[in-house]
Amino acid sequence: RKFVFVTGGVMSGLGKGITAASTGRLLKNAGFDVTAVKIDPYLNVDAGTMNPYQHGEVYVLKDGGEVDLDLGNYERFLGVDMTSDHNVTTGKVYQEVIESERAGDYLGETVQVIPHITDDIKRRIREAAEGSDVCLIEIGGTVGDIEGMPYLEALRQFAHEEDEEDLLFAHVTLVPYSKNGEQKTKPTQHSVKELRSIGLQPDILVGRATDELDPKTKEKIALFCDVPTDAVFSNPDVEDIYHVPLMVEAEGLDEYVMERLNLKEEALPEEER
Ligand code: ADP
Repeated sequence: RKFVFVTGGVMSGLGKGITAASTGRLLKNAGFDVTAVKIDPYLNVDAGTMNPYQHGEVYVLKDGGEVDLDLGNYERFLGVDMTSDHNVTTGKVYQEVIESERAGDYLGETVQVIPHITDDIKRRIREAAEGSDVCLIEIGGTVGDIEGMPYLEALRQFAHEEDEEDLLFAHVTLVPYSKNGEQKTKPTQHSVKELRSIGLQPDILVGRATDELDPKTKEKIALFCDVPTDAVFSNPDVEDIYHVPLMVEAEGLDEYVMERLNLKEEALPEEER
């Protein structure tokens, strides 16, 4: 089984979810069973009680789970039904660990973020991935957020436990423009530095900008963030988000991911896509 982790840098609302769902769609087109996990590092157990004006609609799953609307994107892009186990929140993780503690499951132990919370995070990801060839895991928020730290530590451990070819880290960042119209890579460099300081090295970088990234911008990102130039992809603004899969396909994102994960393409017939 392969795991694709998607983190975000610089600011939230960048398009991590759409990037992850688009990558998943292309892998599905290549014949793989794809599923997704959305991690929301807030303390709410689920999105059911959250203000829709702040977070958008609460998306209701077939099992009655009330979740972040990103799960709707995953269901639509991937053509699969998800369950509330595909939305991991800090509330759910702590609730489970604290209930186990009260039930005496850890008798004698000091219950801690590492290893108890991180173990529960890893368990949830592995369980949600069962039955799929590829599982996409999107970590909500931005690298550097205090709330996200236990998840990033869990990912570091995950990478240590799995084979290198079974796991890929994608980092989505903002590439802003200077007043003279130049694409600026500094925010990307800083967010990758932050990731590396906690022991995570991204394999691919996706730059969200108004337009496609210039070849020079890609080279600069590659050099400073220590990835090959062909591992830097653009995700420019489009009018319709359903164009994003075609756009990233044109840049070769799916081929790069499949090669890196050693996934052999077995394309589905057109009518099954
Ligand atoms: P994140 O997961 O980083 O919070 P989302 O994937 O939910 O971000 O996207 C945030 C918003 O940006 C959504 O409204 C989405 O439709 C929009 N969006 C994402 N990618 C693009 C794109 N390439 N062009 C235009 N809008 C986009």
